[in-house]
Amino acid sequence: MTALSDPTAQTDRVAATDPGKQPHDQSEQGVVPALDPLARLQEIAVRRRAAGLRRTLTPRQADDAVLDLASNDYLGLMRDPRVIEGAIAAVRTWGGGATGSRLVTGSTQAHHDLEQELADHVGAEAGLVLSSGYLANLAAITSLAGPGDLVVSDAQNHASIIDACRLSRADVVVVPTCSPAAVDAALSARTQAHAVVVTDAVFSVDGALAPLAELARVCARHGTILVIDEAHGLGVVGDDGRGAAHLAGLAWRRDIVLTVTLSKALGSQGGAVLGAQDVIDHVVDAGRAFIFDTGLAPAAVGAAHAALDALRADPTLPRRTRQRALDLAAAARDAGWKASEPASAVTSLPVGDPALAVAAAAACLARGLRVGCFRPPSVPDGISRLRLTARADLSDADLDQVRAVLTEVRREILGEVAP
Ligand code: PMP
Repeated sequence: MTALSDPTAQTDRVAATDPGKQPHDQSEQGVVPALDPLARLQEIAVRRRAAGLRRTLTPRQADDAVLDLASNDYLGLMRDPRVIEGAIAAVRTWGGGATGSRLVTGSTQAHHDLEQELADHVGAEAGLVLSSGYLANLAAITSLAGPGDLVVSDAQNHASIIDACRLSRADVVVVPTCSPAAVDAALSARTQAHAVVVTDAVFSVDGALAPLAELARVCARHGTILVIDEAHGLGVVGDDGRGAAHLAGLAWRRDIVLTVTLSKALGSQGGAVLGAQDVIDHVVDAGRAFIFDTGLAPAAVGAAHAALDALRADPTLPRRTRQRALDLAAAARDAGWKASEPASAVTSLPVGDPALAVAAAAACLARGLRVGCFRPPSVPDGISRLRLTARADLSDADLDQVRAVLTEVRREILGEVAP
């Protein structure tokens, strides 16, 4: 492993320094180390840049005129007046912060109301709101599996699930994506008494839907819990956006645990674990990522609750988003790109080389179109890609713009002429 992929790897800095030099120079301020302890980071940065893997933060401006297909605002609710008012009302009532961890002072009535409504929406018995979807996965998985247990995890699972598996200190078997047979084999071969299976409901990179019904059947046969991350399913997949587990008829089962984010379809921030009351009680007792984190800020609670109300008031929103994702994939194909078949709100366009993917995303932005760009470590080497995210409120004119920009960018960056 190199310092590029493993930032903790050692470099040969010490051997490269001038052996004639004293290890320290004296200065008026005191002892100045001859070796810059950050030099290793600079070396890694140079290598990352050469490999097309350097990342930069680009602040958005509130009034930029770019057509945004990179955000996760699937239902177009982020700036909906009802959502903004929901946030403001919660701040007026509860203030800027939750004041403490949920078990101390950070549980307001607003948190409890949102938990119940989220659970009702997906068909689960109970819910627990955390300050991000990332923490929801950490809390759920680390409290359901520990040392001596087994976690079976899909190869395409989100980074927060991967980190949760590591943090659980359970044995982890990573299985090929969307393979109930591989999950079955891993569970059959296990020596551990307890096992948990975890999968994204919708894989975020290419928008594929996990085979949830088959996975649930396998898990039931082996007596294991199935944790389903509905980050990209909630609000988009299934009747009224109740999610992929609901669509598969699973949401109300005691052996199914859902994690969600409030930061995508619900246009806010935060996350939740949803499932049987026994599961929620256990996460409250044992989920360190829940216990030791300050409660979700009231503004985010209020915004998410208002978005959920807006979604329930207009059940056509999920269908419109899914249709717009199909339209985006068709526009990309018209422009000569391969596009994955969207099961939810996203479609992805394979590019391969990370530097080319970055160049293509930059060329889109220069033409007024913001798209997502996935490269290692978000995806394995060699399958870097652009990702287009649909919103319910995209217009036909927006789709024409997407088609025109992608046609030009394909020609400019990939050197191929669209058919
Ligand atoms: N799971 C999946 C599948 C995700 O895509 C994300 C967000 N990118 C998360 C979990 C984490 O959610 P949050 O951003 O709320 O921390």
